[in-house]
Amino acid sequence: MRRWLKVRESSSKILEQVRMYSIPVSDHRVSELITWYLRTLQRAVDIIWDNIEWRYRFPRIERRKRKQIVIIPYKLKVPELPKDKSFKKRLRDDLLQNCPYARHWVDAVIRTAYSIMESWRKRYLKGGARKIKPRVKKRFARCKITLMSVNYGEKKIRITVKPGEYIEISWSSRWFTRMVEDWRIGEVVLKDDRILIPFKSTRIIEVRDVIAWDSNELSLDGFSPRIGFIRVDLKPLQSVKIVYERKKTVVQSKNKRDLYEKYVARERNRENDFINKLATGLRGLFPNTIHVFEDLGKEDLVSRKKTSRNRRKRNARTPWKIIQKKISERAVLVKVSPKNTSRTCPQCGCVVKTRVGSIFKCPRCGFELDRQKLASINIYLKYLRMRGLPHSNDPEKAMKGELWVGVTPSGWSPVIWIPMKRDPEGCEAKGRELNIKQYQAL
Ligand SMILES: [Zn+2]
Repeated sequence: MRRWLKVRESSSKILEQVRMYSIPVSDHRVSELITWYLRTLQRAVDIIWDNIEWRYRFPRIERRKRKQIVIIPYKLKVPELPKDKSFKKRLRDDLLQNCPYARHWVDAVIRTAYSIMESWRKRYLKGGARKIKPRVKKRFARCKITLMSVNYGEKKIRITVKPGEYIEISWSSRWFTRMVEDWRIGEVVLKDDRILIPFKSTRIIEVRDVIAWDSNELSLDGFSPRIGFIRVDLKPLQSVKIVYERKKTVVQSKNKRDLYEKYVARERNRENDFINKLATGLRGLFPNTIHVFEDLGKEDLVSRKKTSRNRRKRNARTPWKIIQKKISERAVLVKVSPKNTSRTCPQCGCVVKTRVGSIFKCPRCGFELDRQKLASINIYLKYLRMRGLPHSNDPEKAMKGELWVGVTPSGWSPVIWIPMKRDPEGCEAKGRELNIKQYQAL
């Protein structure tokens, strides 16, 4: 074994988990509060909108290392949200007029209004939103921590409605009570018929292994120096998407809106079910592991030309953001930049321009590898570099084993399983079990 294989993780990481559970309520005061909240929220959005300053931003190109780099591609009118103290005070005073509720509710409204405006501004600058004032439609009210008092002993939350007037909710003897034992409670969201409670836990985890994952449309391809290559089959998830895409197109052409929405909801349920099983399965199969992923939010920054069509396509259908989020709720997840991960030679660092064939061949040093496995190794190397861990570029000896992991629908719920395959000793690997088997790379 070469040096870079011996890099072992033995450190502690903090794993933060959040789980959202809802408790039904029937209290007319909640609906009244939500009605007021929405009206006030829209008013706050209106006032912020009217005070936006529009500034021109001009195209800019910079020279760096003999290269021309476009910083701002074209002339752009940029909205700046008003944020100075005196504006915020005027806004608050305005909203406090005739406010029948506790003052902190106005602060909760202001904060939500700013987050709505910030997200509109971000989408607008990226070209995803038009220059139209956001409208608040969903009925909800986001609470502030200052409006809540939590009694962890009795498992009760008390929410202040008006000074001296409270709503009490208990989460004892709920189906999830045992799952959130000793967890802390974050800011709740009120809905007309229920209350959403985010439970948070912070645990320190002893990390012993790293797996770098390349996100592909039909599979999640991993590499770990301890295990070798790992492949997680995502075809069942894709077939769910394809089936529902077809169904949705049919009912859309017949203009059946109700049915369309039913399919949307059903698709989301099946997708979430799959992803939850996948994330839980990965945690079970690979305990005490850091999962390294490409930061797909940053993929836009990687020049379009350099991102192959296939790699862009994978984001269109596969819900990577949800998959990453679900894994990060159960295990430690680290993101690295996706730049050049499918074009770099892991041995000599040479960046190859063309991408032809299923085998990657380095023109400089002759290194060869199945293209599907290349990115995961490069993601792993990026992680090591990010951590400042030394390694020599010699991945060859690490590519010893291969593990196949599948998630397949069994009845109504998918389970993680190892596909039937012969292991090197000739014994048949058992399916539908959470045991790890390694296979010789072909
Ligand atoms: Zn090379």
